[in-house]
Amino acid sequence: MADASTSTRCYWIRDQDGAEILIPMCWGAAIGGPAECTCNVPESRIEAAERGRTEAEAQVLRLMDERDRRLEEQAVTWRQGKRLRQKIEELETVLAGMAT
Ligand SMILES: [Zn+2]
Repeated sequence: MADASTSTRCYWIRDQDGAEILIPMCWGAAIGGPAECTCNVPESRIEAAERGRTEAEAQVLRLMDERDRRLEEQAVTWRQGKRLRQKIEELETVLAGMAT
């Protein structure tokens, strides 16, 4: 933990509730929060864990989107196949009528 009185970079402190707080020493962190910090202060463990969970959730959502997309493609293919079979039956009926 950096010494607050001498630090020229942002630094993390842990408050009495156990929450980690970034004390901003650069404009990026002051304005945009830890993600915008330009002095390469190591990120909070809490931040890293939060980001990991967010990424995991995003990955699950991507996989669900992909699954939905494939199911939709499959449904489209099935509908096309059904239409084609109906068309073939119609044409067969027409041909049968022409043959007699
Ligand atoms: Zn900073």
